[in-house]
Amino acid sequence: MFPFSYTRVSDTDEALDAGRRGGRYIAGGTTLVDLMRETVERPESLVDISGLPLREVRATEGGGLRIGALVRMAEAAAHPKVRTLYPVISESLELSASAQLRNMATIGGNIMQRTRCTYFRDVTADCNKREPGSGCAALEGHNRTHAILGTSDACVATHPSDVAVAFAALEATVHLLGPDGERRVPFADFLLRPGNTPHREQALRKGELVTAVEVPALPRPLKSGYLKVRDRQSYEFALTSAAVALHIRGGVIREAKVASGGVGTVPWKLPAVERHLVGERPSAALWTAAAEKAADGARPLKHNRFKTELLKRTVERQLRVVGGTK
Ligand code: SF4
Repeated sequence: MFPFSYTRVSDTDEALDAGRRGGRYIAGGTTLVDLMRETVERPESLVDISGLPLREVRATEGGGLRIGALVRMAEAAAHPKVRTLYPVISESLELSASAQLRNMATIGGNIMQRTRCTYFRDVTADCNKREPGSGCAALEGHNRTHAILGTSDACVATHPSDVAVAFAALEATVHLLGPDGERRVPFADFLLRPGNTPHREQALRKGELVTAVEVPALPRPLKSGYLKVRDRQSYEFALTSAAVALHIRGGVIREAKVASGGVGTVPWKLPAVERHLVGERPSAALWTAAAEKAADGARPLKHNRFKTELLKRTVERQLRVVGGTK
């Protein structure tokens, strides 16, 4: 380890003041402490925000749901409102990590967790995300688990979060608080694709803090769920995943929200799939035809060509499960 300072704050003013001075926020610490042990991250100053009052799940006036940034993954997954209104969120959380980690890790930390690319965590390897300009060892290296969508010549790492895929599908909004006040960022704009700057991962300004994620109200009835495909049944990251929410009324799909994980450099929204579904009647043929569009624009690497077909099949299967047609 290396020397660093540690401050525990009890209100947001204190937190923002410390953040403005360059402090690094920490709450559950389940990602950051690991990275510090491996010296991938070397913050000089940690600001422990786990005592801030951001641990509430509540319905919004518009009928949506606001999940505080410090709500633990396990708490969010078990919350009656989350379970009832958005099963896709509960399922994505329950399929993440271990029970011990879900009891510690927070919703804010989860959506900001860093990639599991092994080269990123190996400080002897070239990695533009860890050390800008050094290269990307994954491009010519072992890239079976890497992204096929949203990649650049600088980085092909996937975003590892499951619940972020559910938030992307549902078109959530991220609430931020910073030195210049509050602002809200659509989830689609919060996590950044790598481009030429893979070390920039979120649309956060200096000193800003995630305070909540808000899921909008969606028409009812809404059926939703999350499917995760991985090498082993637990404690593993997604090779592919699908978050699906469907509003079906009068036998016709009126709204469709679909996103995938494990395949994109950010949680990958699938608007072409959604458009194919809306206005149609559920059927096995419809699910297959819609899922065909899931991998549009994919750029597979040497070892992950299988993900293109796996992604389509994952989306098709979850459409079938949520849509209820065999
Ligand atoms: Fe680093 Fe991204 Fe390349 Fe992995 S894929 S080595 S995180 S630049």
